[in-house]
Amino acid sequence: MSTPDIWLGASQQLRSLVSPQEYETWFTPLSLRLEEDEERAVVLVPNRFYADWIRERYGALLDHALSQAAGHALAVDFEVAASTELAPAQLARPVATPPAPRPLAPASLNPRYTFDTFVVGNCNELARAACLAVADQPGRQYNPLFIFGGAGLGKTHLITAVGNHFLLHHPGGLVHYGSAEGFTNELIQAMRFDGIARFQEKYRQVDCLLLDDIQFLAGRERTQEEFFHTFNALHQAGRQIVVTSDKMPKDIPGLEKRLRTRFEWGLMVDLQPPDEETKIAILQKKAAERGLDLSRKVATFLAKQPEGNIRVLEGYLTRIVAISSFQGVEITLDLVRRVVGPLVSERQVSIEEVLSTVASQFGLKVSDLKGSRKTREVSQPRQVAMYLARRLTRASFPEIGRSFGGKDHSTVVKGVKKIEEMLRDNPDLAELVRSTERLLTEGGVSGASRLKDGGV
Ligand code: ADP
Ligand code: MG
Repeated sequence: MSTPDIWLGASQQLRSLVSPQEYETWFTPLSLRLEEDEERAVVLVPNRFYADWIRERYGALLDHALSQAAGHALAVDFEVAASTELAPAQLARPVATPPAPRPLAPASLNPRYTFDTFVVGNCNELARAACLAVADQPGRQYNPLFIFGGAGLGKTHLITAVGNHFLLHHPGGLVHYGSAEGFTNELIQAMRFDGIARFQEKYRQVDCLLLDDIQFLAGRERTQEEFFHTFNALHQAGRQIVVTSDKMPKDIPGLEKRLRTRFEWGLMVDLQPPDEETKIAILQKKAAERGLDLSRKVATFLAKQPEGNIRVLEGYLTRIVAISSFQGVEITLDLVRRVVGPLVSERQVSIEEVLSTVASQFGLKVSDLKGSRKTREVSQPRQVAMYLARRLTRASFPEIGRSFGGKDHSTVVKGVKKIEEMLRDNPDLAELVRSTERLLTEGGVSGASRLKDGGV
């Protein structure tokens, strides 16, 4: 994706999150430059004051918006622009990066991705241990190291941590971190400008080659060939090679057999989606990195989302932080629910819980809800209970009917429809239904029974 496209995408998201005045004041004077295989985004600002202010107030938000627009994590930095670099009209025409192959610079490693900032759980323990081992003793034990796992499970974080750790403990060592896509593009450039020799030299002198998202090489014969030779040269010289992929070598379509065997020489480790405890720990760590103390309750709520992709979970966090800061409100469970809203997966609730909670809320008995009295005071709460039973449990319409004193499934369907319609036109009822739902989903059996005691 091109820099203007990324900036455009990010701007759209920013506009939706800040007031027009804020946007006008703080974001219109900015422009964007992408660096290092598009892993680092430099936001150009008019002066120091701007840089500080933006970093502090909108740093996380920009980070998120840009990464989302780019489709991958970007390390965002701020730089005071030379006056010529900044004209409002330039917003959509960011400064171009030079096409020539850039020198190897450790700066391409995101400094935030270290072993210290990586939370260990069952899902990633082995992968982390293997990475630490190769970072400590490169080229010795596991060469190559092949890390595979789904999107947002920490592949880039870990492979970067290897580079950061290596540089810290082997000063003067040469690391190259890049995506397989970057490798490919560079190779194409090199071929076009007759720079193959330079390209090969550049890659063959490194002590530690970290190539991210190797699945990109699928079906690219020329790149695979070049990588094969690079691999052999480095391996023979005892240099460390680490690659990541979203699949195992055997599952990468169009990966040459000789490369596949090379990958299988070493160690293959996988990353699994984190369990709830690990998710909580990660969220709290990410929050702490932003100087935020995320309550256990909120972290748990987010961790209960079925989402395993940590980047997505972080995205929730960014939105929550942004909205809480713009609206000047605290991060409560309520706010979080509103922000994460439609993506929220509810706690498993039983029909019995729905019945007793709705009964308490409306000052009725469960038997009223199960009965057949047709007065509005009873029939409306009954329909609310049907609606919530449908929404919060996995029960089918006939099952719900049976639990409501043996009613026909069509009665349930009608009841649910009725409430859905009313929720649109009747804000008071909507609020009542929402608060009942909250009682039920908050792990709120205690909440419900508290209400029952005092409410009836
Ligand atoms: P992938 O490359 O596998 O798609 P990333 O390495 O980009 O995933 O991770 C996505 C986000 O999740 C990053 O911000 C990363 O720091 C974070 N992350 C993933 N796993 C962990 C972990 N175990 N501890 C802390 N942060 C993690
Ligand atoms: Mg990645």
